[in-house]
Amino acid sequence: MKVHDALRFAGYTIALGAFTEIIYTIYKKIAKKSNAKKDMTEVIFFPDSKVACVDYFTKVNGCVTRECRFSHKENSLSKLFMKLSRSIKSMDVCVFVMTCTDLTDLLIQAHRRGVCVRVITDCEQVDATGSQVWRLRSEGIAVRTDGSSFFMHHKFVVIDEKTLINGSFNWTRQAITGNQENLLISDNPMLVKEYHKQFEHLWTLYDPRST
Ligand SMILES: [Zn+2]
Repeated sequence: MKVHDALRFAGYTIALGAFTEIIYTIYKKIAKKSNAKKDMTEVIFFPDSKVACVDYFTKVNGCVTRECRFSHKENSLSKLFMKLSRSIKSMDVCVFVMTCTDLTDLLIQAHRRGVCVRVITDCEQVDATGSQVWRLRSEGIAVRTDGSSFFMHHKFVVIDEKTLINGSFNWTRQAITGNQENLLISDNPMLVKEYHKQFEHLWTLYDPRST
């Protein structure tokens, strides 16, 4: 009788173990699936202690400069560089001040490889010292401005209608290595949709043909 009970107990234990294993396997599969569906969201902060090397982070051959004075270590700017340089279809840029040549270069390179680049900025910043708007326009990139004494104060980019980059960050050297700034990078479809909708709204509003 005792042997029989012991065998039965062992049987139950094995069955329970097997059952637990199956449940755990199913749980892992479901968890993996739901993680894969989760939106990618990241926050980056400035200032960076050093300016990232745009060539190192965006060029196929990397940086070929001897004793490069820029940083080859990943930082906030390098993450922004990589997001912009990997655009495939479109970049809708809505930024108050644009004086950073490296970031402007990435828009020009994207435009040259067939990405639809549209830029909205503040009309009073167009002729400010170091403004890159003339470079964008000379490359054939469409730039629209608010034409108002109020500020077009946004600082956001929508890439490929899939990724939003938004925060306090103007495209200036001071914002990179001086100011306290933040940028949220998100693939959340609801956020991307709302910002893209607002970009389209402003793009139409600031159409020079409609004024
Ligand atoms: Zn370098």
